[in-house]
Amino acid sequence: MFENIISPEQQQALHQLLADKKRIVLTCHISPDGDAIGSMTAMASVLRRLGHDTTCICPDNFPDFLMWIPGAKDMLVYNRSEQRTQAEQVLREADLVCMMDHNATSRMNELGAFVDSLTAPRIMIDHHPNPDTGCAVTISRPGMCAACEVLFRLMWQMGWASDMTLDEAISIYTGMMTDTGAFTYNSNRPEVFEIIAKLIARGIDKDRIYRNVFWTQSADRLRLTGFLLYVNMQILDDYHASIITFNNKERRHFQTRNGDTEGIVNMPLQVAGMKLSIFLRQDTENPQNIRVSLRSVDDFPCNEMSARYFNGGGHLNAAGGRLTCSMDQAVEIAKRAIKDFEAQLRA
Ligand code: 5GP
Ligand code: MN
Repeated sequence: MFENIISPEQQQALHQLLADKKRIVLTCHISPDGDAIGSMTAMASVLRRLGHDTTCICPDNFPDFLMWIPGAKDMLVYNRSEQRTQAEQVLREADLVCMMDHNATSRMNELGAFVDSLTAPRIMIDHHPNPDTGCAVTISRPGMCAACEVLFRLMWQMGWASDMTLDEAISIYTGMMTDTGAFTYNSNRPEVFEIIAKLIARGIDKDRIYRNVFWTQSADRLRLTGFLLYVNMQILDDYHASIITFNNKERRHFQTRNGDTEGIVNMPLQVAGMKLSIFLRQDTENPQNIRVSLRSVDDFPCNEMSARYFNGGGHLNAAGGRLTCSMDQAVEIAKRAIKDFEAQLRA
């Protein structure tokens, strides 16, 4: 039903790596999202079914609204000081590292540097462009909507899907749903829905998963959304672009928790004709660090703009980066970037 996604050589290499019982660590990118967490929990479960020991390690905290994902509570978080020693111990003893939903160890900050110091072979299961070399098996499909889609297709080819557990199906659906804004972008391929059909047949309640992720928030979080849109959103009408800022004073006022600003960057794209949305948020620990998120519609290249102006990258319609400056300076840089891309934005 689904075409193979890896070559016979890769399949052979994977079989060999997993032939005997191994201690396997799974990792994901910083600021883990639903796809990062879901691909780790699903793959960890598959590997346990195959007889391996697994540990999932995130570089930093993930949002509360992902905590319900089966297996999420068991993850180690590398930048939590009380878990770092244990995480490093597990990593030193690992026979294999599975990189889920990231294309380079640099996407894990300090955790990446530690992984780089290890000699254990790596497997990459990802959908970001330009994967790093150096993995024993690299399964990189930038055309796919989520690392969870890549994982499902791998499971299908490897024969691991026939015994897929309900929890694995839930994790995979969550990753595909969150990386596509609940299948509102980057999800026009029939295969996406053929996979969903399989997951529903396996017993997932997709409506409940949607509610768990998108429809379960605190009153503070809802008020924060209103505030950011009403007070902090600037619309540059002529450029079909918008900028939203969020500083630490506001963060404290709304008692913002990890992940509370997730999805806000997409909202300005609801305005008719809007092509680009830029979200600038001050780092909690270092106020001189401004995290940047970009989202666009059609063929506006967020990744190009991010590489040129925000020290980052990503996909065509979703990219991120960071600046080291004040919020006011960051807004100026964002405006300069918008002017520079004027031809594409005004068109
Ligand atoms: P977000 O805005 O959700 O943080 O990131 C959007 C997309 O851009 C994600 O797919 C993420 O992988 C990518 N991205 C975010 N920050 C960076 C960065 O600093 N470098 C690169 N290459 N990609 C990034
Ligand atoms: Mn992803």
